[in-house]
Amino acid sequence: MLYCDKVKKMSIDDLQEQVEKFKTEMDTLEEVCDTLPECKEDDACKTCETYKKIDALNVKIEELEEKIESLLSEDDDDDDDDDD
Ligand SMILES: [Zn+2]
Repeated sequence: MLYCDKVKKMSIDDLQEQVEKFKTEMDTLEEVCDTLPECKEDDACKTCETYKKIDALNVKIEELEEKIESLLSEDDDDDDDDDD
């Protein structure tokens, strides 16, 4: 692999791109969910397979967003000037 070192350290852009992908995937799944007859009732959806997938994606998105935030806060660690 050519970019071995770079791949190890994912950039914020890469992470944000990944989040966007997951969100698009989630939208698609939600649309599927809407068309399922068993999801018409409020509680039914909590047990449907599509909802499980959506839930899993949600967790992944949250993890990625946490990573992005920690990378961002590392970045301006001593840059503390307020725009005031
Ligand atoms: Zn559902």
